[in-house]
Amino acid sequence: MLKIYNTLGKNLEEFKPIKPGYASIYVCGPTVYDYLHVGNFRGPVFFNLVKNWLVYLGYQVDYAVNFTDVDDKIIKRAGEEKKTPMEVTNFYIEQYKKDLAHLGLGPQTMNPRVSEHMPGIIKMISELIEKKYAYTAAGLNNAQDVNYSISEFKSYGKLSGRNPEELQSGVRIEVDEKKKSPLDFALWKSAKPGEISWPSPWGEGRPGWHIECSAMIRDLFGDKIDIHGGGLDLMFPHHENEMAQSEGCSGKDFVGYWMHWNMINFGGAKMSKSLGNLVSLRDFLKQQHPEVYKWMMLSVHYRSTAEFVPENIDRAIQSLAKIYSSLAMAETVLKDCAASDAKSTFTHDAKYETELASAWKKIEEALNDDFGTPAAFAVIFDTIRGYNAKNKRGMKLTATTQSQGQQFVSFIKKFGSLLSLFQEDAAQFLISLDNQLLQQADVQRATVDELVQQRTAARLAKDFAKSDELRRQLTDLKILVSDLPTGSFWEVMK
Ligand SMILES: [Zn+2]
Repeated sequence: MLKIYNTLGKNLEEFKPIKPGYASIYVCGPTVYDYLHVGNFRGPVFFNLVKNWLVYLGYQVDYAVNFTDVDDKIIKRAGEEKKTPMEVTNFYIEQYKKDLAHLGLGPQTMNPRVSEHMPGIIKMISELIEKKYAYTAAGLNNAQDVNYSISEFKSYGKLSGRNPEELQSGVRIEVDEKKKSPLDFALWKSAKPGEISWPSPWGEGRPGWHIECSAMIRDLFGDKIDIHGGGLDLMFPHHENEMAQSEGCSGKDFVGYWMHWNMINFGGAKMSKSLGNLVSLRDFLKQQHPEVYKWMMLSVHYRSTAEFVPENIDRAIQSLAKIYSSLAMAETVLKDCAASDAKSTFTHDAKYETELASAWKKIEEALNDDFGTPAAFAVIFDTIRGYNAKNKRGMKLTATTQSQGQQFVSFIKKFGSLLSLFQEDAAQFLISLDNQLLQQADVQRATVDELVQQRTAARLAKDFAKSDELRRQLTDLKILVSDLPTGSFWEVMK
């Protein structure tokens, strides 16, 4: 049974969808006027898991992430680049999709754009005016502005837990005589001359930010959706305002479960030094494998802040190296078995199967408990330890090790497919990780290979003093050499 922490009411609640067997998800997406920052992908990485987990539980899932393609920042960027706003947004939407593909996340079902939902937006604003939740005021160019009147929506503040009176006293009073209350917000803004605009009952203008999501959700899903997600920074005022608009319009509950992921800390100066001040995901992925980023986002519970600091990048690399090393060991066993006689004597290790089934149950419990990824990762590390204790690199092949290898690989891949992790070829992944670490340490692979070969020759000639000296040289380069019955192999210390 899945439980979700609902920001509305601040409780862990059992997930009960509107329609049995179907779950609708809407997540506030990016404003598309630039490349996106590493911080912008915590949501997509986490909601990829939410969607996959609901599918695993048997739901048919629609997962929508919108594009805000009408915004002041876009208009400004278009002016700077001497392009139309649509040229700017089309370009950055393509870049966002490339980033998602590079991260290897599963598809989002729908990507509505504000510019394609203008009729729905205008209709919703008209209804809000009819129902007295909104009022018009004189705008630019003989057109009108439309504002939402928060004093008309009696439960304003119920999502964020802020009450309007306190908020008003905290607000720096803007001199805006067109608003009845300083907290009232724009639903429709009359256009400045020459600015991109759409015709409306209130003249040429464009929508405010908050109404977009309300109208797109209604167009796509109707009055109510199951799950609405967004960063914690959107809870107020954006989501509070979405709720005031949608519930004002329908008179019904708008969202079953409000889910907010927490922010990312960048560790101040230390991180700026190593990554530059604002790092685009694209630049980060030039330095690190996409799984490093996904690991960093998912190893922390989504409601906790994630620390984007060098130590955590190292920790992610070490963790992935540990998991992929065991996977590589198992895959080698399977390849060797396929080529040997053990195949004919294959026996299913039923005891190991029981062990893994109980581990899987713990993973289900962890993810059903508000997507508890840290607890699920702990089970994975237990499973790795269990497998490594039974199997050593270079060990003798038996029918049992083959069965264990098969079961272990499919267990890790099954878990990984939910998070879009551990899907790489293990041996290749470790080589690329080593290459990256060698590059960072400014060490050539050929140098390492040469030293390891010299050491093997020294060992064969029983010149142990020389072989020890060569090992020391390798250790200085952070290279760890292991000697197995099948030969020596090396890896970069992680
Ligand atoms: Zn939104």
